[in-house]
Amino acid sequence: MTKQWSYSKWNDYDICPSRFKYKYFDKLSDGGDDLTVVHFGADGTNEGDDEAKWCLEAFGEFASDRPKVFIPDERLSAFVAVEGFPVMARGTYIHKLAENYLKGMIRELPKELHKFSVQFLLLRDAAARGEATWTFDENYEPCELFAREAYVRVKTDAHVLNVESGVMRVIDYKTGRIKPYNEQKELYAFAAFARFGTDQVKAVQVELWFLDHGGPPSKETFAAWQLGDLRKTWNKRVAKMQADERFDPRPSNFCNWCTYSKSKGGPCAY
Ligand code: SF4
Repeated sequence: MTKQWSYSKWNDYDICPSRFKYKYFDKLSDGGDDLTVVHFGADGTNEGDDEAKWCLEAFGEFASDRPKVFIPDERLSAFVAVEGFPVMARGTYIHKLAENYLKGMIRELPKELHKFSVQFLLLRDAAARGEATWTFDENYEPCELFAREAYVRVKTDAHVLNVESGVMRVIDYKTGRIKPYNEQKELYAFAAFARFGTDQVKAVQVELWFLDHGGPPSKETFAAWQLGDLRKTWNKRVAKMQADERFDPRPSNFCNWCTYSKSKGGPCAY
């Protein structure tokens, strides 16, 4: 495996090193990377019912004359595929709506974003930049997306700099359950300082918008003087992942729906 990493790769490792190995070394599908299906409810919550309703409604709007196939699978999760229509994961779909709204390609705020209607309006008025990927080399110097020296890529949903105050807002849209995502907040702050420099960016305000829930965004602000600490922290996390040669299993509740678990016929002993 290359040394290249991203937040999602590190997060997979943090959840379970064995799972990480199956996915990235052994290249066994984790069932979550196929965007030709909509996948939901796999975490065992009853969110699945709402998601099923959403999916049928959403794709019904676009493809009411097309056949819909609803296939429950053995993990108490479900897949919906709509024949002849490019179906994407719900989270991806909603992110796309937000992106197109920011770009002005969708004039009216989609209903999926209504719980953040004021925030989206203000964000669009502030001319925030939508989806972006910040790529860095091993010294955390910015580089081209597909440069040979690319080491880490950080994807942001939206960001906007207040030139007067030097405060950069980095926004991450979240679908599904509310969680703290503390490490991801730290990575966004680190990446924003590294990408734009502390001459320009004096502070980074990371905001998580839990689109399904509404309410004020979960915010954390980082000052430029924290850059060194953020870098050290992330170096330590990544070094641990890169030095691991054992990839021991880390059993947890996650095993209940892990594709690699024994109960799902996977290679893991748990
Ligand atoms: S079943 Fe549990 S221990 Fe095994 S790979 Fe999956 S998450 Fe890790």
